[in-house]
Amino acid sequence: MSAAGFHGSKYCWMNGKVMSTDQALVSPMESIHLGIFEGIKAYVEGDVLGEGHLNIFGWKGHIDRLWRSAEVNGLVMPYSKDELLEAVRACIIRNDYTKNTYIQPRIWPKGSWSGSTDSHVVVPVWPFETLLGKGNPLFGEKRRFMVSSWRRISSDALPPQAKSWANYLNSMHAIREARRCGYDNAVFLDSRGFVSEGTLACLMMVRDGKVITTPVTASILESVTRGAFIDFIPDLGYPVEVRDVTRVELYASDEAFLCGTGGECTPITSVDDIKFGSGYPGPITSEIADYYAEILAGNVDKYKNWLTPV
Ligand code: PMP
Repeated sequence: MSAAGFHGSKYCWMNGKVMSTDQALVSPMESIHLGIFEGIKAYVEGDVLGEGHLNIFGWKGHIDRLWRSAEVNGLVMPYSKDELLEAVRACIIRNDYTKNTYIQPRIWPKGSWSGSTDSHVVVPVWPFETLLGKGNPLFGEKRRFMVSSWRRISSDALPPQAKSWANYLNSMHAIREARRCGYDNAVFLDSRGFVSEGTLACLMMVRDGKVITTPVTASILESVTRGAFIDFIPDLGYPVEVRDVTRVELYASDEAFLCGTGGECTPITSVDDIKFGSGYPGPITSEIADYYAEILAGNVDKYKNWLTPV
């Protein structure tokens, strides 16, 4: 590995200490593919497009899910949740980051893949570009999706609720198919034929002033962002329904958007070339994204407890 493999960051945290990313080397025979990870973001306080002090969004939700993923996959966590938080802080501070930063703890079994009693833990961090914030041109980019011919992994094959690298091969197939067919990305149906989620984020639809999102039983990753959206969207006057959605209901939505740590709040232009509503990005999607950006920046008192200072 080299700094390039760490998206240019100079330091990471590995197995107990901050080190140069050039020295974070492991054997190619390691079972990283059997590992788990988390994707977490720290945003600039005051304005997500600014620079300054960083707060981690949804730390508790992400770290609890990491522990659950480890348990489900039989991985040992050799550090405490507090130690991992200190690792993240030390790593961001050592890199001198003062702009929005992505945090991706990775855990994989040491030695034998079946019955390992110890794990490698690496915490890479790197800056990312947000599509949120006032006047951000990235937000309104066109995004044409298709319904994938690949179904989302079902929980009788692999646990979709664990954030395991293995699950992402499912997403990779759907993304490659979408690109091959001239689309930007895809929506998965679950094994029953109901709408599941996006390839790397959860899905929300707007119909008649209501926001609808698919349930955990539709093989989705139990998203931290989705949970927050379900909590805060009613503040804006829109009720949220969590229920199964059919493919045609998705087509007939007024607006649709992705929500997730990576996806933030990403408007979708069309699915299978069927456009949503009359304007793009949809007005309710835009309102939700603006409010979310304020929450992330720590400007909404009610949700300041979702932020953990670096
Ligand atoms: N679904 C999938 C498949 C994902 O990869 C992600 C990103 N982690 C999400 C949903 C959104 O989850 P979260 O809000 O916890 O990032």
